[in-house]
Amino acid sequence: MKKTICFLIVIGLLFLSCAKQEEQETMEVNPLLSEFDTPFGVPPFDKIKEEHYLPAFKEAMDQQQNEIEEIVGNPDTPTFGNTIEALERSGELLRKVDSVFDVLNGSMTNDKMQAVAKEAAPLRSKHQDDIRLNEKLFQRINTVYEKEDELDLTEEQNMLLEKYYKDFVRGGANLDEKEKARLREINKELSVLTLNFGENILKEDNRFELVIENEDDLAGLPQQVITAAAEAAKERGHEGKWVFTLHNPSMIPFLQYSQRRDLREKIFKAYINRGNNNDELDNKAILSRTAALRVERAHLLGYKTHADYVLEMNMAKKPENVYQFLDKIWKPALAVSKVEAKELQEMIEKEGNSFKLQPWDWWYYSEKVKKAKYALDEEMLRPYFKLENVRDGAFYVASKLYGIQFVARDDIPKYHEDVRVFEVKDADGSHIGILYTDYFPRASKRGGAWMNSFRKQYRLEGKNIHPLITNNGNFARPTGGKPALISSENVLTLFHEFGHALHGLLSDCTYYRLSGTSVPRDFVELPSQIMENWAFEPEVLMVYAKHYETGEAIPQELVDKMKKAALFNQGFAAVEYLAASYLDMDWHTLTEPKELDALEFETESLNRIGLIPEIIVRYRSPYFRHIFSGGYSAGYYSYIWAEVLDADAFEAFKETSLFDQKTALSFRKNILERGGTEDPMKLYMRFRGAEPKVEPLLKRKGLI
Ligand SMILES: [Zn+2]
Repeated sequence: MKKTICFLIVIGLLFLSCAKQEEQETMEVNPLLSEFDTPFGVPPFDKIKEEHYLPAFKEAMDQQQNEIEEIVGNPDTPTFGNTIEALERSGELLRKVDSVFDVLNGSMTNDKMQAVAKEAAPLRSKHQDDIRLNEKLFQRINTVYEKEDELDLTEEQNMLLEKYYKDFVRGGANLDEKEKARLREINKELSVLTLNFGENILKEDNRFELVIENEDDLAGLPQQVITAAAEAAKERGHEGKWVFTLHNPSMIPFLQYSQRRDLREKIFKAYINRGNNNDELDNKAILSRTAALRVERAHLLGYKTHADYVLEMNMAKKPENVYQFLDKIWKPALAVSKVEAKELQEMIEKEGNSFKLQPWDWWYYSEKVKKAKYALDEEMLRPYFKLENVRDGAFYVASKLYGIQFVARDDIPKYHEDVRVFEVKDADGSHIGILYTDYFPRASKRGGAWMNSFRKQYRLEGKNIHPLITNNGNFARPTGGKPALISSENVLTLFHEFGHALHGLLSDCTYYRLSGTSVPRDFVELPSQIMENWAFEPEVLMVYAKHYETGEAIPQELVDKMKKAALFNQGFAAVEYLAASYLDMDWHTLTEPKELDALEFETESLNRIGLIPEIIVRYRSPYFRHIFSGGYSAGYYSYIWAEVLDADAFEAFKETSLFDQKTALSFRKNILERGGTEDPMKLYMRFRGAEPKVEPLLKRKGLI
């Protein structure tokens, strides 16, 4: 037995040094380093242990380093094949180890996995830098890039060449030594600033507490909110009292239901002043410095502003395009929000009050207006949204659109008993890929919902490698003898993630780097968001939204109420979001690396767009984590950009029929199969025949 194992390992290590071989021969077999001997080559979860990852990472990085050295050492003139494709092929093992680890660390983590993650992260980033900053490698890429026009490449090959070239250039490969040194300094300082920014907000979130001692001060709050506040008080050493914090699940219900206007004001003001208290947690200097350094870096790399640098890689391309786009939605949204404010003011007066509506009143009075207008309670819908039915509803939509089938497979290994495995087949019965659904929360899983993959689709030496896609959620488990009944918001989430899954499953690309969901940030939400449109169409609801006890389809009356309530408060939601998008763009279109007064700058920015005083921007600068400590600088607009795309794309179905086969085929061929192989706008226009229009979104949000 032992001999066989050693033999297999030696085969896998042919390119490595002898010393390495000896070291490996004494080790137990590492399943991550062997072929997966399972149906469809899925990971053999029962064999993979936490201790296998780190050696596998190291081995995989060594392998890629050797592959890179081979490319660099090639005496032949650089060509697309011996440089770009060779680079693309390198790191095959690393991708495999990375994917398996990444999926499981999100869905099935533990202390050991987290320790591996911490140890692997710096190794991984150094490995990346070693490749990006390899001058000889860049020279080869550059040689090929300069001959691009003579090479007779396909569209996809052109894209691949440009992606690699840009990666290196944007990483500073073209700079001289002095500039490179300054770039490294800037990057280093920025990494510390962004880390500090995030840590300060985390501390701010945790330090404020609204302690309520008198039961009368709880007036208006629902019982489960009071119970949660009592539990929070106990945890924080205030037994017998009630505590509210700045975390959304605690603060939002307080703003919605508390009759104590003064206390609503108190918690709200604490929230909007995070990072702005002129103390050790203040973020104003940090963010000004961050914005200034980003301008300096943009200048070094040859861009006018940080936004120009970021947007070059997105669909929007230029800051002007983002501003023009935001303006189109801002005006109607602002008008609707003013009407909403008036309705809330009327409700205030109807109750016999004379004060003027303030930002901390918005949730409280909008809740009252909603009840009066729509008489819709979420709990009325839940019995119709049994998880399995909703999932089958999503499958039904995909089958009707693309003719694909989902076949439950009990013979394929899975990493947890909650997971369900489906083989996805095309209309002609041929294999497309595997979908794992994993919908319930557990301690080992992070929050939220997401799509990921154990393996992306691509072609290796002409052979199609089929994708292994996962969909994760944190939906309510079955309780008290009832099946899992999920909220209407969860229904949309399930359809949304399923849309990302289809993007991964139906991918038909040659190169891994460009396949599936490897597309710009302002394009990636199109396939996911468009699926949400089908979820609540009456024709689709009738198929899957069946009462979990009686099996009866959802009553028309409820469907109508849902439709109407969907337009509620959309002006407010759009305005607070768009204001933040403008603020993001303003910070990142600065042309001088100067440190500014953060609050003055913010006030000017929001005054310029005419934000009304009853609404506060969704994120004020000192706690705008997305742009000052996350990856969304000059990118916060992406969400609504993709909403325009999905609303406009769905219009193509509405113009014909919900399941129009010609339109569906075009969406599959031009969007879902193509990944990032071409410019997204070209792909979109090939599907739609024109650039996306903003009107369908405005209509959907009730803004026109
Ligand atoms: Zn998404």
